[in-house]
Amino acid sequence: MAVEKRNPIPVKEAIHRVVQQEIYLNQIEVNLDESLGYILAEDIVATYDIPRFNKSPYDGFAIRSEDSAGAYSENRKQFKVIDHIGAGSVSSKTLGQNEAVRIMTGAQIPEGADAVVMFEQTVEDGDTFTIRKSFEANENVSLKGEETTTGDIVLKKGQVINPGAIAVLATYGYTKVQVTRRPSIAVIATGSELLDVNDDLQPGKIRNSNGPMIKALSEKIGLNVEAYKIQQDDLESSIAVVKDAMSKHDIVITTGGVSVGDFDYLPEIYKAVNAKVLFNKVAMRPGSVTTVAVANGQYLFGLSGNPSACFTGFELFVKPAVQHMMGATAYYPQVVKATLMEDFTKANPFTRFIRATANFSQSGATVVPSGFNKSGAVVAIAHSNAMIMLPGGTRGFKAGHTVNVILTESNVFETEMTL
Ligand code: AMP
Ligand code: MG
Repeated sequence: MAVEKRNPIPVKEAIHRVVQQEIYLNQIEVNLDESLGYILAEDIVATYDIPRFNKSPYDGFAIRSEDSAGAYSENRKQFKVIDHIGAGSVSSKTLGQNEAVRIMTGAQIPEGADAVVMFEQTVEDGDTFTIRKSFEANENVSLKGEETTTGDIVLKKGQVINPGAIAVLATYGYTKVQVTRRPSIAVIATGSELLDVNDDLQPGKIRNSNGPMIKALSEKIGLNVEAYKIQQDDLESSIAVVKDAMSKHDIVITTGGVSVGDFDYLPEIYKAVNAKVLFNKVAMRPGSVTTVAVANGQYLFGLSGNPSACFTGFELFVKPAVQHMMGATAYYPQVVKATLMEDFTKANPFTRFIRATANFSQSGATVVPSGFNKSGAVVAIAHSNAMIMLPGGTRGFKAGHTVNVILTESNVFETEMTL
């Protein structure tokens, strides 16, 4: 069989082709307390002003600022306390001249008052106190509507519901929220050399690490995953299993069998399910054979069997596709700059992705390859929080060069306190 000629396309173009598909999931309504991580399918508007009333940001006394005019250390002004309210209470009194209401943080400013004196700024004596500085109107007052006014769009359709958004939704009394459903994922590891994690090793065989890794990568972004059993390099049964996966899941991710070897059946499987291949060669290392196809309004990701290529393919193509089909406004990988701390002299015409450890210290961002980094490497993935992205070309890269980095882990902690 003649080896099919494949045209490598730039990584950027490949990602573009993935997110240009008009593949979107339907909207559902979820309860606020299960909405974390979903993408909003509607704008959220402020249903009232925040603050809803002028309120005190401190524990202290509400006064009429005009009564404090001219106060200084040798000319203290005295106030009489006529009421005492905590947060949640409203005073029924209206302040007269030189009167004050003892007020706690969050409580509504009483009628007549327009400033708050903090306890620390007073000398108390029975039901009176004195102050030694004058206050301006609205000093120490959180004004009605200073954060948002009724009708403001406070969260936008397409943004992710993070803990802050949960707080906003709770504030305005949204008990339910319209979001886009999450895709369900089928993971199929293909390769007649593969063993399960609980199988004994045999000559010529290796354990399937990509399947569990893809499942974990998917679960880390909140997706439900069905891990299929290892699929032998056999065309007929491979077609059947991919069809089954397509009938049950939104996305089918396979690893292996995507190359031009004698038993690499993925191209034929895609033909059998009438898939439109978006690309089958990307100008990148590792994972140049990564293939993405679309069939029946579903994404089919053919990731390389090489563990690091498989990981890279998930980060570069699966993640943006998932974000996009969930209606997110932002779906491209975030790229930051960092100083390369080691020479990387191996030149290559293709863009190279290297599993790496990025560090953002006070002195700036640095990045270093995270160990043995051939495309078959597994251990380096575990020690990485980033991928260095070196543009293709004839030159190598030296320590001290500024390079592009894609962060692959959030929630990174330090072994030492750097606060
Ligand atoms: P392939 O993409 O099928 O040509 O496989 C490329 C390389 O990745 C070969 O060395 C395979 O043995 C290895 N490989 C394939 N599938 C997996 C897997 N699920 N876990 C770990 N290594 C794999
Ligand atoms: Mg294979």
